[in-house]
Amino acid sequence: MAKTVLCLPGDGIGPEVTAEAIKLLECLGTDFGLSLRIEHGAVGGSAYDQYGVPLPETTLAAAHGADAVLLGAVGGPKWETLPYESRPERGLLALRSELGLFANLRPAVTYPQLADASSLKTELVSGLDILIVRELTGGIYFGQPRGVRTVENGEQEGFNTLVYRESEIERIARVAFDVARKRNRRLCSVDKANVLEATELWRKVATSIGNEYADVELSHMYVDNAAMQLVCRPKQFDVIVTTNMFGDILSDVAAMLTGSIGMLPSASLAADGKGMYEPIHGSAPDIAGKGIANPLATLLSVAMMLRYSLNETRLATLVESAVERVLDDGFRTADLVAGGTQPVSTSQMGTAVVAVLRDLSGDIL
Ligand code: NAD
Repeated sequence: MAKTVLCLPGDGIGPEVTAEAIKLLECLGTDFGLSLRIEHGAVGGSAYDQYGVPLPETTLAAAHGADAVLLGAVGGPKWETLPYESRPERGLLALRSELGLFANLRPAVTYPQLADASSLKTELVSGLDILIVRELTGGIYFGQPRGVRTVENGEQEGFNTLVYRESEIERIARVAFDVARKRNRRLCSVDKANVLEATELWRKVATSIGNEYADVELSHMYVDNAAMQLVCRPKQFDVIVTTNMFGDILSDVAAMLTGSIGMLPSASLAADGKGMYEPIHGSAPDIAGKGIANPLATLLSVAMMLRYSLNETRLATLVESAVERVLDDGFRTADLVAGGTQPVSTSQMGTAVVAVLRDLSGDIL
């Protein structure tokens, strides 16, 4: 039976980069026999303009009915002065929480062809391939009580609560162990167990789930050390699993090791295997409408979708190989060019990936 993918282009460069993803999915249909139904919906600022809300009911219902959601990006200056509840980003957060997307997977891969774009020395990052698994719906970003209160002498005090239940730690740990099994079987759990009781429990639960995965080597690291190791010996890591806040910070550090934000995909997964896939970048209003955005993060998000929600591992690997091939062939969008190279447009880059895939289909069929 055909699986359903809901495409939500969103704002700014979102429609430009998702258009290339649709080209890719269509090619996988025609040339590789992938049976998919692609639906389209509105989210973010463009949804607000059309429907008065950043997440229309129709979009939410379609997301619930789909096997996977592909998102471009949301937001932009046009909507920044709207009341908090109407802002584009609220639509995205509501979608994540409505779909129960508790596991955020963010790979940081440095392509050898782009290693000199990293802020670290080439030899430290060339061949880097890390996957950070971040808990996305719990921890200090959601814990109660929270707020700002007035205490003695009229002084203000801000407070948040770091809270994790065993069941929340267990389910994210299982996701991380499962993905580590599909990679190099090394998992590093990052916490601050020496200071925070909630993460002492995190370490205990991760260790106990580790007993079920004897084939995966589990290690533990305090978050301050992990931050340091990421910038001095990043290649020691395979998969990292961590809390919502630590993951937020560490995944941005890891992203920057790779050079360009336009290359980095992400997946957010629910317990039932449903997922939302999106580039980690935003709507890039500064370049929107110019046709110069790098679509590769979105195409690599499609590869993650094929692997994690559509059970098409072989096609996922093919898409990743096609991206590598176009980089080998010298295709660069403006964010990747160095020296006197002539950049290609968003659509030329998408077309180049599709052309390589078509080539590969000849080898495979
Ligand atoms: P951004 O990621 O949109 O842009 C940061 C810089 O990276 C810009 O210079 C931009 O031109 C460049 N860039 C981003 N993606 C690129 C691509 N694919 N190709 C080439 N260059 C690219 O971050 P920002 O400027 O902080 O935010 C802009 C808007 O996006 C804001 O409204 C913000 O709230 C929103 N945002 C949305 C998401 C999301 O939808 N998931 C994530 C981050 C930011």
